[in-house]
Amino acid sequence: MVILYPDHQKIFQLEDSFKHKGLRKKLIDEIRSKGIKDQSVLNAMNEVPRHLFMDNSFVSFAYVDKAFPISAGQTISQPYTVAFQTEALQIKRLDRVLEVGTGSGYQAAVLCEMGVSLYTIERQRSLFDYARILLPKLGYHPQFFYGDGYLGLPTYGPFDKIIVTAGATSVPSQLKEQLAIGGRMVIPVGVREHQVMKIITRESDAFYSEVDGGNFVFVPLLPGISDQNKTNP
Ligand code: SAH
Repeated sequence: MVILYPDHQKIFQLEDSFKHKGLRKKLIDEIRSKGIKDQSVLNAMNEVPRHLFMDNSFVSFAYVDKAFPISAGQTISQPYTVAFQTEALQIKRLDRVLEVGTGSGYQAAVLCEMGVSLYTIERQRSLFDYARILLPKLGYHPQFFYGDGYLGLPTYGPFDKIIVTAGATSVPSQLKEQLAIGGRMVIPVGVREHQVMKIITRESDAFYSEVDGGNFVFVPLLPGISDQNKTNP
């Protein structure tokens, strides 16, 4: 299958060969050896062809456990980080999940593979445009939104799970409000490129508990949407 890259009008093949599958299985073994235990997360990551979420010329980097640049100065998260955040969410089939930071769409695909009902928001127009073409071609059908994830999606909440895939300086209050009681939010919080993964549970209407899940590196969560003239990065 061939699709058009909206940014660069580039054409590429959606091919998932035995070689890709073999490399992917090795990557999943590596992630398991780093401590990820939830088999449903590992199975989903074994199914999603990560190389299709990266620039064609970077295919050989798709199955190493590293973050990698995508367009608009953003990154596709490190596979271990995707696994860690997804495991921490304790996903159940049919959960209503909000993702802030669609980026390449890879994390979204992993969540869809796990059978959730996904709402994903991106503030960079080119990434939003690309993901909403690519994911349906791969059989994944989240609802895509171009907007500011700080605000969440009040009309679609409450959500059973919220995953933020960019580093916030603090936990946005709107996102806390959109978490269902008993729901979980996984969000990296910190300054510059040093974040602590916060795993937040809404225990009751007004009480939230919080656990730290270790240090990670993310691109920043930025306010507002980016416009094409780059005055807002
Ligand atoms: N989940 C992505 C990770 C992408 S990196 C993946 O699997 O590839 C984080 C993304 O968050 C970037 O694309 C960035 O543009 C986006 N982002 C940053 N601040 C945002 C905001 N306020 N609302 C929505 N998206 C945001």
